[in-house]
Amino acid sequence: MKTEKLDIITDGHTQMKNITDAVQDAVTRSGVRSGICTVFVPHTTAAVTINENADPDVVRDFTMEINKIVPWEDGYRHFEGNSAAHLKSSMIGFSEQILIEDGKLLLGVWQGIYFVEFDGPRHRHLYVKIMED
Ligand code: ZN
Repeated sequence: MKTEKLDIITDGHTQMKNITDAVQDAVTRSGVRSGICTVFVPHTTAAVTINENADPDVVRDFTMEINKIVPWEDGYRHFEGNSAAHLKSSMIGFSEQILIEDGKLLLGVWQGIYFVEFDGPRHRHLYVKIMED
């Protein structure tokens, strides 16, 4: 199955953007009923994660706390001035794998897939690879 490239436009400096529907659409387009979906973020200041999609305060609390754990200014030496974004991206990670059954992502009821921006706003993209059983 061909790798799909999805465009993401972020509009915050730190932002969690729910991409569950876009990834599910890629699964549907693939026609795969059972397999594995890999989502990969090809950036060094963004990430992808899975977390609660019901209460928007989870996203708010997540971004608030991660910005406390890794403050934007902390005597970093990286010339671009965005070391905090690089650190947070590696902490959260650049890929997720989700099982597919009956043509649907096998996410829990409260789970959503989030593209996580740490140095936005920017025009980003991510790759989706779907492998059939
Ligand atoms: Zn940098």
